[in-house]
This record gives sequence, C-alpha cells and structure tokens, in this order.
Amino acid sequence: MTLLPVTTRGLILDMDGVLWRDKTPIGDLVAIFERIRALGLRVTLATNNSSRSVPQYLERLSGLGVMLEPWQVITSSLAVAGMLEQRFPAGTPIFAIGENGVREALTQKGFELLTVEDASRAEAVVMGIDWHITFEKLREAALLVRSGKPFFATNADKTFPTPRGEIPGAGSLLSVITTTTNVQPEIAGKPYPFMMEMALARMGTSRETTFVVGDRLETDIAGGQNAGCPTALVLSGVSTRAQGQAWLPKIDIIAENLSELVGA
Ligand SMILES: [Mg+2]
Repeated sequence: MTLLPVTTRGLILDMDGVLWRDKTPIGDLVAIFERIRALGLRVTLATNNSSRSVPQYLERLSGLGVMLEPWQVITSSLAVAGMLEQRFPAGTPIFAIGENGVREALTQKGFELLTVEDASRAEAVVMGIDWHITFEKLREAALLVRSGKPFFATNADKTFPTPRGEIPGAGSLLSVITTTTNVQPEIAGKPYPFMMEMALARMGTSRETTFVVGDRLETDIAGGQNAGCPTALVLSGVSTRAQGQAWLPKIDIIAENLSELVGA
C-alpha cells in the first residue's frame, strides 16, 4: 500500500539519501521504479549536486537496473544553465567555476566558457562545487561580481557528504565571493524553486498533485514547500523522525524510505 494520496500524479525525487547512500542502493530500486510506473506516476530525479552530468547519472541508474529517459534527470547545473538561458543569448561569454556538470550544461546551451586568463570578458559569473578551486578563480569571480556582472550559483549547500564526513560544499565556496563582494547570487537549486519548476514543467503535472521527496529538511522539504508542492521526508538519509516532526510548515508524509512511501 502506498502512503501517497490517490490524487498524486508526479514525484520529484532527491537522489543521495533517497535512492542510494554513497554507492549503496537503498532498497530494491528496480521494484520501486516498477511500482511507481504501476501507480501511473510521472517521475523526475532532481539533485543539488552539480558535479556530475545527466549522462553520468543515467549510467549509474542503468547500472542499478533502472532505465530512465534523459528528461527525467535534473541537476542544479542544468537548472542554472536554464536560468541563464532565460537571460542571455547563446554565445554570451561566462566565467564558470565548477566541475564537468556545470561546464557541460552551459556549453550545451551555447555559452562561451572563459578561462582565468580571459575571465574579464565575462558577462556573468556562475559558481558550483569545484574540486580544483584556486585563488585565481575566486579572485576573477570576485572582481567580476564587484564590477556588477550578474552572479549565479547552482546551490548553496554548505557541506558535501562523503564517506569520510562532510567536506566544503558549493555554499562554502560561494561564501568567499559573498564575503568579498556583499552580493548574494541567484540560486538555481533547492530550496529555491527554479529547479522544482523545471521538474514540474517537464512532467506536465500540477504542483498540488506532485510530491517532492527528499531526506534533507533545509533543501528538499523547504524546496518542495517553496514551490507549493506537498512533501515527503524519507528517513533513509540525513534527517531523523524527530527533526521531521518538528519542522514547520508541517511535512505531509514521513516514511522510513522510498520503498515504504510508494508501497513497493
Ligand atoms: Mg539527499
């Protein structure tokens, strides 16, 4: 038996802590996605992690027996590229700090990516997690933002979970620029609504009938609530039941895991 109301038409699922923890799947993912299909629900996966590309996620999912279409995976890299697409014509030079995920998403939208050497030509700055961050990259980003160039970020998660513990996340890198410039970026990922709106548009479902499912209160649950969607917290990741019950506004459903939520 699913815990979802019969009126539910769509699901926006977080990945880390919902589908897997590090590399270990949470429950029988094949059975879970078969059950979602049998319930007639549309589904998208939406992650704040900007480091990987959509093909990388599709490959990981198919390795676990889950076959999804490219439109069903949305990263904060894709979302920030979509945000820029609404504001700048193709060919606009961008100074981007980030990994493959961000660089591929911006290149696919036709933007020109600049290096540290020619960063001064940029019309906008984009920041995501960067495993090779340098002082020079931060310096160029800060100078551009101080000169008034529009400033965007994939997400603002302070930390990034690893098997060894929490390491600096995109939000920690951003804080260097916000401290230097006193300018806050426009953020594409959760808890801001842009990535959620993208998922709704792709599924063609209404916000009232689409559940946002995640394990983290400040990003997934707040993001769903900011987008006007009902929310489900799963306890297979970072949050506890007590934290979920204390959260306001009230969370619609608290489930042990995705399997229990959909009744797989
Ligand atoms: Mg998560």
